[in-house]
Amino acid sequence: MTDDGRLLALGAVAAVAAAGVCRRVGRSMGSPAVFVRTEYQYPDGVPGDEDDRGFLFTRAVETARPSGHDYDPSWDYEPDSFVLPGDVGVDAVEGVLPEVQRVAGDLGLGAVRVYYAQVERGQAARYVDGTSAEPILLLFCEAYRNEWNPVREIRLSLLHELGHAYLDSNMARTYDDEEEEGVERFAQTLDRTVLDEFIDRMGEG
Ligand SMILES: [Zn+2]
Repeated sequence: MTDDGRLLALGAVAAVAAAGVCRRVGRSMGSPAVFVRTEYQYPDGVPGDEDDRGFLFTRAVETARPSGHDYDPSWDYEPDSFVLPGDVGVDAVEGVLPEVQRVAGDLGLGAVRVYYAQVERGQAARYVDGTSAEPILLLFCEAYRNEWNPVREIRLSLLHELGHAYLDSNMARTYDDEEEEGVERFAQTLDRTVLDEFIDRMGEG
């Protein structure tokens, strides 16, 4: 490595350390290392005081992968939709995100971003259509407050939403009960053939 290269590498390490929580998730053959980094940022255009960390998002960064889109949830959601997740929510997401990111990689999807936001009434989580290259998942942690095991439920929700993202990346969303059953079964089993069979049926239909 040249001196310049070493300096650049050191700079990158320092930048990642400064960003906060950072965990090496693992490396599989042929894919770049994946880091999970927790950032505390406002979505673009949302006014307010960053110090209250009101608009956290957690982003899994797969290095060297270009961004697939520039979607920002503040385009579609009012500023007061972005809500504090609470300690349980933050801990849960940071705990399960490495697995969620690994599953996303297995499905050919890019770095996952989780925004803490109040989504439509009655919904606890949502995948934003069209973002499968870097899936954007909205999570309303308040909805899990009374769960006996919120970590388990948040994990299942994020995997469920990844199922929607995978179908979206294959242009196979149907927005019906059958899709819901398929992605839920995927979340429970992590059996990708459930989704692939759904996509195949779509192609025949
Ligand atoms: Zn769903």
